[in-house]
Amino acid sequence: MSATSASRATVLAQIQRAAHDLGFARVGICNSSPFVRGEHALRQWLSAGHHATMDYMAEHDRGRLETVMPTAASLICVALAYPGPETASDTVAAYARGADYHQVLRERLNRLSASLTKIIGHPVHSRACVDSAPLLEREAAMRAGIAFVGKSTMAIVPDLGSHILLGELVTDVLLPTTPSARARCGRCTACLDACPTRAFPEAFVLDARRCVSYLTIEHKGPIPRDLRAAIGTRIFGCDICQQACPYNGGSRSQPGEPAFAPRRELTNTTLADILHMGSKPYRRLVARSPLARVSRNQMARNAAIALGNGGDPKSVPALANAAVGHKSPLVRSHATWALGRFTSPQAQAALEDALCDNDLSVREEARVALTTTEEC
Ligand code: SF4
Ligand code: SF4
Repeated sequence: MSATSASRATVLAQIQRAAHDLGFARVGICNSSPFVRGEHALRQWLSAGHHATMDYMAEHDRGRLETVMPTAASLICVALAYPGPETASDTVAAYARGADYHQVLRERLNRLSASLTKIIGHPVHSRACVDSAPLLEREAAMRAGIAFVGKSTMAIVPDLGSHILLGELVTDVLLPTTPSARARCGRCTACLDACPTRAFPEAFVLDARRCVSYLTIEHKGPIPRDLRAAIGTRIFGCDICQQACPYNGGSRSQPGEPAFAPRRELTNTTLADILHMGSKPYRRLVARSPLARVSRNQMARNAAIALGNGGDPKSVPALANAAVGHKSPLVRSHATWALGRFTSPQAQAALEDALCDNDLSVREEARVALTTTEEC
């Protein structure tokens, strides 16, 4: 099927106008041929184990659009901007402080699909994809010319930065394409140098096993002890490599889609609240937000680390209560680790109590913390 009812240039201009009317900051179109280079890089990444526990990354043939739609002919790629981080110590990554981007993007892509039908003049088959479909979306964004992939592995729009969310509309209509983007990092290595956990074994390669975003969001079990201090006060994701990127203008915030502005529920909640939050309030806190990807105990684990790294003595009572009283051994063990960062009598007493915990991981954290404290 091809766009025969109007000239290709007119079709392209109409699609671009429809996308901009829907609030998309960028739109581009590419063909459906396989993403050979991206597929090769993905295979290497998987075979090196850099995907950690994200085995779903190996489940589909992500370089081929037929996996998403057997009749795929074109791909409309869009970018929606979100407000950048406010401070270097934000506890939640900027993209996750507002509404769930999956819902926002999918709803707009579906409206773009309806516009496409009108533009083409007959029904078209299309599928909206927002990072849940098996698709190499950054490769697609580069081919469609809306962004280039930086050494940080992030998609970057040169005059907008990397605080963008990508979405795609796969369609069976053969559409006019837009020129592809080219890499623009040059000799810059700011993101690689800024990473607190040294998660980049080389440029363009991210080892998820060391990345704060993976550890705080995808990783379900204990966080490796040697990486906890570098997590700082982050409980969901990390913006550090993006903040270092000159395309983001240093740490300057950019205006973005209002739906992604920080939610009041989040800004009114402290780390100590999260550490001890019950299931009902937690469901309310994460409802219709990207935070819902993380379970309550995982988030409490992250809050314990953040409180320990924050170093505020006022955190000790909350940590001591969690170390001895939280139902989850995962949370108790991380609260115990966090207490080891303090030298107050209350912290020491709670560590000694934790030596008698019925869970081996908690006892081990207490032993290590007390040994380290004594050595200091
Ligand atoms: S998100 Fe944070 S931890 Fe992950 S690569 Fe970037 S700077 Fe490193
Ligand atoms: S910080 Fe530099 S190297 Fe990293 S993505 Fe940005 S421009 Fe590229």
